[in-house]
Amino acid sequence: MRNYFIAGNWKMHKTRAEAAALAQALVAQLKDGKHKYLVAPSFTALETVGKIVAGTNIMLGAQNMAAEEQGAHTGEVSVLQLKDLGVQAVILGHSERRHLYKEDDALINKKVRLALKHGLEVILCVGELLEEREAGKAEAVCETQTVKGLEGVTAEELKRVTIAYEPVWAIGTGKTATPEDADAIHAFIRKVIGKLYGEAASKSICIQYGGSVKPENAAQLMAKPNIDGALVGGAALKAETFVPIAKFA
Ligand code: PEP
Repeated sequence: MRNYFIAGNWKMHKTRAEAAALAQALVAQLKDGKHKYLVAPSFTALETVGKIVAGTNIMLGAQNMAAEEQGAHTGEVSVLQLKDLGVQAVILGHSERRHLYKEDDALINKKVRLALKHGLEVILCVGELLEEREAGKAEAVCETQTVKGLEGVTAEELKRVTIAYEPVWAIGTGKTATPEDADAIHAFIRKVIGKLYGEAASKSICIQYGGSVKPENAAQLMAKPNIDGALVGGAALKAETFVPIAKFA
């Protein structure tokens, strides 16, 4: 079996007490889990959750990061502060960051390079809007976001990068890309990685799918040859829905 990577993005949900309860449930229920796991709570709960997942098979992730190391950047959180809390990975280029907060590829790339420079793993999210898909531009959008997001990233650093393909129209909407459609884009992203870094990298890169992943559709998605895991939003907020995804059969 492949080494799947299942990550939960808790977005702007949960107080520290709620985050702790979920983290404790996941630690208990995933201790015999066979895959790679990550949870990404809000910044405010990182320390609390970090203490609970430390030394377990669940990695601690952040949902975003500043593009600068430190300095006069009111409201931002730096890579140094994340590392200080035990953060091991960071989600970058999430569609909510791209579309609600207008982060462009250049800014995302700056964050990607900074996170990698400091030894973090990166989940780089790419994905098209509904109108882009309808205009036949899904591949072109994913190619641009992948190529620009990885500009200046070395082959060695790429080993710490996961790509998450998240069609924007499927995020939080209950609409999932069919496993076939998702797999086709994953195969395409693999080709893009091949052009940039060679065949071995294209085979070994982990490409997660994200967009209304649920216990009911996880296994079908993971059965596809190019889908190596999931980035889960809504269903990551409860152990009852995240654990079955994380232990899909
Ligand atoms: C996400 O935000 O990364 C996501 C995939 O959300 P959801 O699972 O709720 O569609």
